[in-house]
Amino acid sequence: MSKHSVLSPSGWKRWSNCPASLKEVEHARLLKLDDSSPYAAEGTQAHSYAEQVLKGKLDLDAVPEDFHDGVALYVNSIRADLEFGGEILGIEKRLKWVTDVRVGGTPDCVHRVGNCIVITDLKYGAGEYVSADSMQLQIYGFLAARKYGKKTDTQIELRVVQPRYERDGLEKIRSTFWDRQELDDNVSEFLLNAIEQIETSPDLRKSGDHCKWCPASRLPGMPPCPEHVKQFTDLLATVPLDKPSDLATLSETERLKKILDSEPLILGLLKHGGCP
Ligand code: SF4
Repeated sequence: MSKHSVLSPSGWKRWSNCPASLKEVEHARLLKLDDSSPYAAEGTQAHSYAEQVLKGKLDLDAVPEDFHDGVALYVNSIRADLEFGGEILGIEKRLKWVTDVRVGGTPDCVHRVGNCIVITDLKYGAGEYVSADSMQLQIYGFLAARKYGKKTDTQIELRVVQPRYERDGLEKIRSTFWDRQELDDNVSEFLLNAIEQIETSPDLRKSGDHCKWCPASRLPGMPPCPEHVKQFTDLLATVPLDKPSDLATLSETERLKKILDSEPLILGLLKHGGCP
């Protein structure tokens, strides 16, 4: 946790929505709580192989079978550009925003092809779709253009390689292309607004989907977050299971829908032992 910038691109949803989560992250760090998971360890391992292969320290054929195809997809997407005159600018190199050094992160690979700076992000998870225009990638593109950009660089490509996400024929390699100035304006505005909220309302708590990335919602040993608990309490009020009289007024389809809609809540309660 300590290696991460306070305002890391990967945490953008959490810190831009809920300033108080910054204190929760710091609290978890001071408590030295275990933030590891088998999924994170697997992702770290895949990134390590990918980095070594791209740097020429490991042959692609030497990557263990379990990881080989995913790493190959990522590495070959970059090597294809290098064969057309591209150049590597940084592999796993840390970038910071000079205006506010709390903003910083480490893109997997930055390279240039012609007048385009390409940020490639290896997403090894199979469960959650990552779009190629996410603010995480936009911030990487913004920082990379400022660090490596030449006057002749007019375009930014944000590329996601997600080898294990297989749904509905979606491409495992996907990109969005940005005018450099447009991306710069977009991200500058986002960061300045988020930072202003953090400065003016540091204790503001706002719950939402982003809570799943906050230690206060998911790490055993952390005191429960009142706003997150409220979110669960509000949700509980909508659970049909303790209101048989309400259920009786619903059609079979509506009843089924209510029960299915309650699944995340029930799973959350089970995960947190009944105390979110
Ligand atoms: S659990 Fe949610 S509401 Fe609470 S501090 Fe974390 S992000 Fe904010």
